[in-house]
Amino acid sequence: MKIALVGIGKIARDQHVPALAASPDWELAATVSRAGSVDGVPAFTDFAAMLAQRPDIGAVSLCLPPQPRYPYAELALKAGRHVMLEKPPGQTLAEVHALERLAAEQGVTLYATWHSRMAEAVAPAKAWLRDKTITRAHITWREDVRKWHPGQDWVFEPGGMGVFDPGINALSILTEILPAPVHVTQADLEFPANRDTPIAARIAFCGNVTADFDWRQEGPQTWDIEIDTDAGPCALRFGGNRFQVAGQDIAGEQTIMGEYPRLYARMAELVRAGASEVDLAPMVHVADALTLGKRHVTDAFHF
Ligand code: NAP
Repeated sequence: MKIALVGIGKIARDQHVPALAASPDWELAATVSRAGSVDGVPAFTDFAAMLAQRPDIGAVSLCLPPQPRYPYAELALKAGRHVMLEKPPGQTLAEVHALERLAAEQGVTLYATWHSRMAEAVAPAKAWLRDKTITRAHITWREDVRKWHPGQDWVFEPGGMGVFDPGINALSILTEILPAPVHVTQADLEFPANRDTPIAARIAFCGNVTADFDWRQEGPQTWDIEIDTDAGPCALRFGGNRFQVAGQDIAGEQTIMGEYPRLYARMAELVRAGASEVDLAPMVHVADALTLGKRHVTDAFHF
């Protein structure tokens, strides 16, 4: 099946292009970019022109930041194309609900991806936790924004979600593996004096679940979820890629290279089945943390 990539930026180059090159399901048949291209692939600068000129391309994968993404998704769905959305699937929940309705009306697939759910050890962790009672869980998601989002001012602009841009990856795992849902009860958010989105967040959920997101961590980076259960402690580490029970490795590997190939395999399954997959649970937690969050102003941030 032919697919077009829209927005040839960091994640498109790091993950989507290699995943598509190795995919048995997909052929990267066009790019749409204001300035970039991929060697050997027809390049368009205008999205509407690509849709009009390439009726053979049945699917588009949108790798734009969340703020400009909605009009692209709407145009593609109205043109009868299947659509795959990078995470977070939009800048608001209502936008994504609208896309979900439109995809259903048009009879095409909408896939709101959560790449961290495809991490190697998430499924084994979910299976192990299925029959356990959770007594405590804590997420530590601390990374260096300068390393992972160099110069990307959109993350600090309204709709960019700030530290929830990586934090939503942790929440996508949490909402996948917990045997029963939780909801946010309290949040403390640190906003740099010169920015519109938080650089750090501490969140409490019902059920003794807490989260610590921070974008100012230099040196070793931490993407851990530690969970205490009635059968003892377990932990998902390295962004869902290693699963430990009582400190012993049970499953996983220390690489993220399998996540995007699995997303494209899932997209192919959905298209073949005539189905959509849009789970907004991780984004509900972000919206609730921003609604309930107490605002603290901290040092100005410059890249
Ligand atoms: P990025 O490099 O800053 O932007 C991606 C591309 O989107 C840009 O190169 C540009 O493509 C296009 N774009 C940006 N602003 C636009 C605008 N206002 N109008 C139209 N096109 C615009 O961002 P990214 O890091 O790839 O992130 C994109 C999405 O992937 C985000 O939702 C992010 O959460 C998600 N993601 C990122 C990472 C990561 O490590 N960075 C990891 C996983 C997921 P052209 O120049 O080609 O037009």
